[in-house]
Amino acid sequence: MKKWGEKPYRSLDYELKRRYGGKLYKVALDAGFTCPNRDGTIGYGGCSFCSGGSGEFAGDRRDSIETQIEKGIAGLTRFKASGYIAYYQAYTNTYAPTAVLQEVYEPAFLHPQIDVVSIATRPDCLDDDVIRLLASYQKRKPVWVELGLQTIHERTAEKIRRGYQLSCFTDAVSRLRQIGIEVIVHVILGLPGESTEDMLETIQWLNRMDLQGIKLQLLHVIESTELADWYQAGMFQVLTMEEYVKLICLCIGHLSEHIVIHRLTGDGPSSRLIAPEWSTAKMQVLNAIHHELKVQGISQGCLERDTYDFRTDNFV
Ligand code: SF4
Repeated sequence: MKKWGEKPYRSLDYELKRRYGGKLYKVALDAGFTCPNRDGTIGYGGCSFCSGGSGEFAGDRRDSIETQIEKGIAGLTRFKASGYIAYYQAYTNTYAPTAVLQEVYEPAFLHPQIDVVSIATRPDCLDDDVIRLLASYQKRKPVWVELGLQTIHERTAEKIRRGYQLSCFTDAVSRLRQIGIEVIVHVILGLPGESTEDMLETIQWLNRMDLQGIKLQLLHVIESTELADWYQAGMFQVLTMEEYVKLICLCIGHLSEHIVIHRLTGDGPSSRLIAPEWSTAKMQVLNAIHHELKVQGISQGCLERDTYDFRTDNFV
């Protein structure tokens, strides 16, 4: 029996089964927010890769949250679900006055089939009022917060116009952890100008943070983004499938065992995807990753030299 069921890494499915006895399915929601990096507060146009706040698979923002949850669950009835995760996915889901946030969050906390509420946001949109609000919700149901860091390297962050510094992320993680909220970080692999070493440095740095989950995502070039202009001008190349498979296996090997892997590929909208085209064959990519892990004998954390204990602030 392997450590994490059938896979050589701590997958989200494994973790949910351990905690809830079965699989929880995500109901992706669009609560009608925007993003300070798009509306002019921090910048216009958003991060260079952003095609709409990753909300392409979310519900319809014209529907109420109650309706989106009901429709989302109805669309998942063919699966044997132990429960559901309300996933506030589109744009920046803490970017509003707390009275508005309460209105938007309340239906998920009232819904009997929702077990977990996951909120995607930016670390610079978590002021004290929002933290207090999340703390009160955390007492009712587990709350996860997903933060799109993408990279630890400031030069890349500037290039992709992320709009906040690494210290902002560390501060947000620490304040969320003080109120017991699980934090899931998003990392993009294959960003322009980043080497394998750069990406592994990001993983090793994240090992030292008090993080509970990670989404490792392949860089997608989506129509009508700044990244698409750069790509079409020949300013960078996307990863081949072979390169990505090798890279993701290295990342898994370097990632601390305690961090749950929520994603290993990416979920770009295929109708607007420019590159890499191979990424649409998601099952094939996942199979290739699993095969490579086996061939290389890699399991999560096996390449991590030191483990950092954030409680004692020491390598152990
Ligand atoms: S922070 Fe998120 S929603 Fe805002 S521009 Fe960047 S990727 Fe898009």
